[in-house]
Amino acid sequence: MIELWGEAVRSIEGRVNPANRDQWLRPIECLGISEGRIHLRAPNRFHKEWFEDNFLPSILDNLRERAQRTFAVEFQVAEEAPMLGTSEDVASESVGEGPPGRPTPGGLDSRYTFETFVVGARNQFGHAAASMVANSPGSKYNPLFLYGGVGLGKTHLLHAIGHEIHRQHSDWRITVVTCEQFVTHFIRSMLNQRKQPSSISLMEEFRACYRETPDVLLVDDIQFLCNKDSSQDEFFHTFNALHLAQKQIVLTSDRLPAELRGVEERLQSRFAWGLIAEIGHPDLETRVAIVKRKAEIEKMALSDEVALAIASVIRSNVRELEGAMLQLSARSSITGRTIDREFAEEVLKDLASATPQGFSVEAIQREVANHFDIKLHDLRGPKRHQSVARPRMIAMYLARKLTGSSFPEIGSRFGGKDHSTVISAVKKIDGLLAQDANLRSVVAMLESHLRQR
Ligand code: ADP
Ligand code: MG
Repeated sequence: MIELWGEAVRSIEGRVNPANRDQWLRPIECLGISEGRIHLRAPNRFHKEWFEDNFLPSILDNLRERAQRTFAVEFQVAEEAPMLGTSEDVASESVGEGPPGRPTPGGLDSRYTFETFVVGARNQFGHAAASMVANSPGSKYNPLFLYGGVGLGKTHLLHAIGHEIHRQHSDWRITVVTCEQFVTHFIRSMLNQRKQPSSISLMEEFRACYRETPDVLLVDDIQFLCNKDSSQDEFFHTFNALHLAQKQIVLTSDRLPAELRGVEERLQSRFAWGLIAEIGHPDLETRVAIVKRKAEIEKMALSDEVALAIASVIRSNVRELEGAMLQLSARSSITGRTIDREFAEEVLKDLASATPQGFSVEAIQREVANHFDIKLHDLRGPKRHQSVARPRMIAMYLARKLTGSSFPEIGSRFGGKDHSTVISAVKKIDGLLAQDANLRSVVAMLESHLRQR
């Protein structure tokens, strides 16, 4: 029965952007299905609500079709689970990995541990820093600030720290959130508080949740705080409270603290108080090792030759490497062919022609111009009319997000614009995305088209 849930979830995964999938969909666990009731578990109440609003209806539709019947849903929230973190925790049965009797704290992805992380020249320092912090949390390097481009393992290391601390201190409370979750949680608490000022203070609850409860706070993608003033202020106080109490804080970001434009200086400087470690692009040797490791984990038969072929072609980041392996295994199971060098080269050739070096700025420009029905020439040119200025900003935003190119580099692809123009475009779109659901869906669609190319 439980597989039914997995199938229904997988059927919608394709339509969800990978970040949302990892962040919101994957952490929901199905504990079982019995007598028309589905028992689910979410890391916290907020996560549950978000999931119910955004994913549950389509999953239930899909389930109904598959099983030809309707289901009721019962939710358990990890934070409120009885005796979470103690060895008698009844909920522990639901957690797949890890030693029995010891539940993994809600929100930690069981795949992201130090054991599954491959160390190479460019991530060695980040890995060492993460493991030092995991072994003596709160003492020396606080906060630990991990930064680097997309798909290079920041989230993986963040969760690995959480797992390791949990292994050594099973009674500690570990809070892992994406910055987006923090911000949304904060805004919701604030708005609801305004609506029902007399109810028990939602803001107090929120503050307790971040300032008082955690022994360790792990926040992913802190760059999301850019230009969100009240959330920044809230995070400032959260940070201070935890830091003062010598609770470990770990942050990840796609850029250095000093490059976080739109984040107050007092926060930027605090982010640099502890240790800053960069996670760089893996070199060929590391990419080969990663491919082999993944194949081992996925029980996929891959020769050294094929591993080398994949790692030589896919150079952009680890997530793309995983994508290529997934394609290979999917196509091999559809066609029934074994994954030998010839087959791998065919598939890789397809992939490589679709995404030279991951994403190119040109491909993004074409996609955006196409979508808004404007000329490529105008998109790259100096016209300031709203009808091209907005798409141009979106293209710049996507170029920054998907290619990780530097601001000056992106500027040069848009007819030699100054880097400050690119920075303000990215900032502007980033800010608008937080408020404008339409824009969010346009950007998500463009991104998913690009990913499918
Ligand atoms: P980021 O947060 O930096 O964008 P992630 O941590 O989400 O990247 O990594 C993307 C994918 O690549 C994840 O599935 C992760 O497990 C994998 N990955 C990244 N770096 C490594 C590594 N060094 N060894 C093994 N897997 C890795
Ligand atoms: Mg990440």
